[in-house]
Amino acid sequence: MSDIKNNLLEVKNRIQLACEGANRDKKNVSLIAVSKTHPKELVREAFVAGQLQFAENYVQEGVDKIEALDDIRKNIIWHFIGPIQSNKTRFIAESFDWVQSVDRLKIAQRLSEQRPRDLPDLNICLQVNISGESTKSGVSPTEALLICLDIVELPNLSLRGLMAIPEPGASLQSMKDFHHLFLEIQKHLKRHQFKNKFDTLSLGMSDDLEPAIRSGSTMVRIGTAIFGARNAEEPPETLEEE
Ligand SMILES: *Cc1c(COP(=O)(O)O)cnc(C)c1O
Repeated sequence: MSDIKNNLLEVKNRIQLACEGANRDKKNVSLIAVSKTHPKELVREAFVAGQLQFAENYVQEGVDKIEALDDIRKNIIWHFIGPIQSNKTRFIAESFDWVQSVDRLKIAQRLSEQRPRDLPDLNICLQVNISGESTKSGVSPTEALLICLDIVELPNLSLRGLMAIPEPGASLQSMKDFHHLFLEIQKHLKRHQFKNKFDTLSLGMSDDLEPAIRSGSTMVRIGTAIFGARNAEEPPETLEEE
């Protein structure tokens, strides 16, 4: 059995055990394979092993990979999870199915305007900074509700939930607080007869998927545990617009 197939089984096993420990149904936790820096051949290998959702961090690399894997495009759900410069939004709006790293209203507005009309609504998560470090992107927890209320008004987008990248070794309490914020916003949107599903709490990576699932995560984003260690170097960005 290939490494990737084996790694996928191991990660699924970890998810199942974490769900059992938390008394949750594993159907409510989706697994996103983070393929950043890894070649398209490995994405295909994971796809053949049954993995259907993938995430990329860098616009140029992601767009290139999606195009190179065009023959399986219809079977894959592609997530964008990296920092977003406003002059790159068009490429994201045209190529991806989800954008989890929206961290300001301006980015949501541009994605809304630039989403091609013949494609389904772009699924959006608002990224929240739950570690309070100035270096990490994401809105503060106190701003999150108001920004969500603005995003739900935008056409061509479907606001699906919240995403966070806790600092390594973050406390279980900070993850539980994040889940609480998610439930509060969900309740608020329901009261306002918001029609779309606000059902996604994207939290958990290779090293912290267990506490994330215990804290209510519905979507874990796993890179290293599936594809192995990444080269430290970031790929160059060459796409330019505006
Ligand atoms: C790289 C990355 C991941 C995956 O991290 P691993 O530790 O390799 O599992 C998840 N989410 C985001 C936003 C990332 O940038």
